Amino acid sequence: MHIAKRISRLGTESAFEVLARAKALEAKGRSIINLGIGQPDFRTPDNIVEAGRKALADGHHGYTPANGILPLREAVAADIELRRGVTIDPDDVLIVPGGKVTMFFAALLFGEAGAEIMYPDPGFPIYRSAIEFSGATAVPIPLYEENGFSFSAEEVLSKITPSTRLIMLNSPANPTGGVVPKEEIDKLVAGLEAHPDVAIMSDEIYSRLVYDGREHVSLLSYPSIRERVILLDGWSKTYAMTGWRIGYSVWPKAVVEAVNRLAINDHSCVNAATQFAAMEALTGPQDSVDTMWRAFDERRKIITQELNQIDGFRCAEPAGAFYAMPNIEGTGMTARELQDGLLEEAGVATIAGTSFGVYGEGLIRFSYAASTEQILESMERIRAFLAARG
Ligand code: PLP
Repeated sequence: MHIAKRISRLGTESAFEVLARAKALEAKGRSIINLGIGQPDFRTPDNIVEAGRKALADGHHGYTPANGILPLREAVAADIELRRGVTIDPDDVLIVPGGKVTMFFAALLFGEAGAEIMYPDPGFPIYRSAIEFSGATAVPIPLYEENGFSFSAEEVLSKITPSTRLIMLNSPANPTGGVVPKEEIDKLVAGLEAHPDVAIMSDEIYSRLVYDGREHVSLLSYPSIRERVILLDGWSKTYAMTGWRIGYSVWPKAVVEAVNRLAINDHSCVNAATQFAAMEALTGPQDSVDTMWRAFDERRKIITQELNQIDGFRCAEPAGAFYAMPNIEGTGMTARELQDGLLEEAGVATIAGTSFGVYGEGLIRFSYAASTEQILESMERIRAFLAARG
């Protein structure tokens, strides 16, 4: 058999690999605290589950339009108006099977040999994977610990060449928990006005998870670049719906027809009952979102304080999402050595920063979407592991 060369250009997401290793260790009787995978440890709120169940009972068993049912796209538009202050046409919304699909479609739409696409590093690993799969050259945007893991707008602008087609951005960010300050976004947008052919994909899947009174700043809210911004958002993180597989994107009018064609070729539509559940999520009570937010905020403070008390660790307080990414250079270990040691010997699953790009060396990611007891127990285990190494 000869499989196509482009398949070898696909990367992966180490969180799933670490999850599999953690499960294998658990199956052998080991106690593992999983701070690796990035998903809420809450159940999907009951009203949402019920809406999905009701949709099935009501007979919503068939295909839907490829871009999603109109009432859901209207609910997305209303939510964007409410939270981002931007009016959009529901016909520019594409309902997709998870936020990931938006980044893959954006890469397929703009990427080909000779094209360049920028992505954050350390960043969600699928950006680079999708870019390289498309045949384009992946150009990293370094994120700096000393800047709260923001990019420098000046540096991003300096990397634009005549081949640059698309810039992928993510704030609040996985894996760093960083939030790009509004001043930096303002600077970037002002500079992008000189590059009218460059599209921007803004991954805002953690937009509801910002802390300390910060407001989420959406790239979609800048009129000067509005017609070339792709917004990536969804339900997975906000509503604890990672397994339902649904997300949404907003596309520039000029490419809506093309992405709808991609959807028809790829998955036909998102499963109908899930779309009804997602509609209830947006239009129903939001108190579960607030409850989850408060829990994440509390754990964020606890984990930051605890990580800073570990010899060799230094952790800036994350501003968003549910990740903390301490600098671990003081341990004398590489990120990968520490990840493997913590998993195999201490029973704590984390993800090496290098899984998120070359700029992730010296860092490891903790997902604090776990109970306070698990977080505190994991810190004990890490201290014991490091003490035993001397
Ligand atoms: N974007 C970022 C930054 C993420 O961290 C994730 C999931 O971890 C996604 C997108 C994908 O979300 P989904 O599970 O909806 O595909």
